[in-house]
Amino acid sequence: MESLTKRVKVLERKPMTMVESWYLLNIIKGMAITFSHIFKRNPTVKYPEQKRPFSPVFRGLQILNRDEEGRERCTACGLCAVACPAEAITMEAAERKEGEEHLYKEEKYAAKYEINMLRCIFCGLCEEACPKDAIYLSETFAPANFQRQTFIYGKEDLLIPDPVSDPEGFAKARGSRATLNEQKP
Ligand code: SF4
Ligand code: SF4
Repeated sequence: MESLTKRVKVLERKPMTMVESWYLLNIIKGMAITFSHIFKRNPTVKYPEQKRPFSPVFRGLQILNRDEEGRERCTACGLCAVACPAEAITMEAAERKEGEEHLYKEEKYAAKYEINMLRCIFCGLCEEACPKDAIYLSETFAPANFQRQTFIYGKEDLLIPDPVSDPEGFAKARGSRATLNEQKP
């Protein structure tokens, strides 16, 4: 049958010669490629023993920040939740009582604060929207898990360690992103 496009190419399958039928040349070629890779630098990383350095602009798991006295900065204004395009943030506000000034910086605080990490797209808009310097995207990420429920991060998961009682943990959790943000004009 005549082809409409005339692009058909009829292939001729020639019978193999005796030398070709031994596949010796092809085996040698294949082995040469294999050996050439032995001396090349290994491109794979043996995670989790080895970890790649993150980019300075990497945005990972959120942290709820504290001030230098260890008080929670979040005032439960809800701006982060409004800014969040994935509707991943929910919170409940509460009034600070007398004697709780050492716990919460503002008169209103987040009694409950949750982020659904399965919804979060790590866009950083919550961080941008916060007027109280209370939320940062850190340099870690949510570990893998089999249970969907474990990806709802509550306040106890998000709150940064107290800088007064645990300065090392505080500095580690803040990482360099928070410092970079503070240096912004
Ligand atoms: S990083 Fe983006 S998606 Fe994730 S909680 Fe913040 S605003 Fe929402
Ligand atoms: S994290 Fe910031 S923007 Fe979100 S509720 Fe707290 S103070 Fe408001």
